[in-house]
Amino acid sequence: MQISESLIRSVVSQVLAEVGRSNGAPVAAKSFGGRNGVFTCPDEAVAAARDAFEQLQERSVEDRKRIIDHIRRISIDQCVELGTMEMHETKIGRLEHKIEKLKTLGERTPGVEFMRSEVFSGDHGLAVIEHAPFGVIGAITPVTHSLPTITGNAVSMLAAGNTVVVNPHPSGKKVAAEGVRRFNRAIQQELGIDNLICVIAEPTLETANALFAHRGINMICVTGGPAVARAALKSGKRAVVAGPGNPPVVVDETADLNSAARCIIRGAAYDNNLLCIAEKEVFVVATIFDRMMEAMERAGAVRLNAREVETLTKNAIIQIGEGEHKHDAPAKDFLGQDAAVLAKGAGKNVSDKVELIFGETDVSNPFVPVEQMMPFIPFVRCKSVEEAIDRAKEAEHGFRHTSIIHSNNVKNMTRMGRLLDTTLFVKNGPCMASLGLGGEGYLSFSIAGPTGEGVTTPLTFTRERRCSLIDDLYILGKPKR
Ligand code: NAD
Repeated sequence: MQISESLIRSVVSQVLAEVGRSNGAPVAAKSFGGRNGVFTCPDEAVAAARDAFEQLQERSVEDRKRIIDHIRRISIDQCVELGTMEMHETKIGRLEHKIEKLKTLGERTPGVEFMRSEVFSGDHGLAVIEHAPFGVIGAITPVTHSLPTITGNAVSMLAAGNTVVVNPHPSGKKVAAEGVRRFNRAIQQELGIDNLICVIAEPTLETANALFAHRGINMICVTGGPAVARAALKSGKRAVVAGPGNPPVVVDETADLNSAARCIIRGAAYDNNLLCIAEKEVFVVATIFDRMMEAMERAGAVRLNAREVETLTKNAIIQIGEGEHKHDAPAKDFLGQDAAVLAKGAGKNVSDKVELIFGETDVSNPFVPVEQMMPFIPFVRCKSVEEAIDRAKEAEHGFRHTSIIHSNNVKNMTRMGRLLDTTLFVKNGPCMASLGLGGEGYLSFSIAGPTGEGVTTPLTFTRERRCSLIDDLYILGKPKR
């Protein structure tokens, strides 16, 4: 008697259903078709993503591309609706940038075209190194870009043949679920596979930890601040960690000050400074400090005086944590808010059109070490470029995330590049130029500094496999007698 593969599968899944769900075990208990990726139970989400992974493995790379094309199309065509939804839910950032981020990720996230194989050929035949999927990936995403991060992660992870279960930030969970629902629905309609991207609709720290510990999760990818980065590194699983940054900027005496000012405003004001790569504090050489401040004003930023900076600091930076863990942090009422709101917190009225406010501080002002994620940028006067670079290194906290210099002196660029050792090092441009937006290179919203993968691509989410043919197919070699 011939037994078909589908019969075997159905019997196996019935047996597993009877065995029932054990904690964290990758059990496929029932069909999850029609759920469009939205789950409350992590075990169910992982089982559905596993089932989808097995179906995806049977499909061609061309099918992966068609799947990704749906994600791209929805992110681009529905960016206004979904971006507005994200803005209303998270209440941080700027609407125009929420919309633009979705469109940009839909257009530019690396897809199947980034997949490649390597070959060794020689006297002993052929070895092909191929990049295989890990399986089901557990992803944690930030509130600063809830659906955009899911979009980028999904494209890269699916291009490599994985499926994903996302635990979004609780404050961006609705738009996360809605985006995932739309992606899956479109994919299911055309390709007949549901749940390639799953999302936990009611995410908590417990559901995040359930994914970290789940036996059905083969790899973890977290995008967020220090706490989640530490948790992922402790999980015992292969983890891709896109952690926090506090990108410093150095401006030396050789810089084009007008260009530097325009770049700093473009990067630091984008989405009200929510980007992890965004300019967060600026160290300027004293001989050009006053001219740099004037250039900032000419470029449209509004300067606060010392009293206003002091008032804003008192209102916008708070202390959190207990005992030795007590530290400065951005106040919720100001995080990701418009420059006009911050200015009000400084006792000043500015137009709603102003994108960025700034002011002179000394290095001990908490806006320098804190990743403020708000459009106020402190400017620190430094005696020399050496001092500016040293202070930049201190402010970056060794995250090795992003740093920026405006200079025409290659020695200064080299010194800063070497000393800060950041994943992204931008010279004479706004931060986003390092992601191919006005500079060369490609885009991702998960930049893995601590674990070293850098700007993630589909290849980040693969395992190497080697396929060797011994003694044959080296067609350049001498034929054997
Ligand atoms: P966050 O750290 O508060 O939250 C990020 C995610 O981690 C959320 O889903 C949150 O629920 C979860 N989380 C937090 N603590 C956790 C823990 N102990 N265990 C499990 N899950 C936990 O960060 P946020 O405010 O949402 O985002 C801003 C932060 O993310 C900034 O620090 C920014 O630099 C960073 N970020 C980094 C990148 C990158 O590519 N490196 C990209 C975007 C944002």
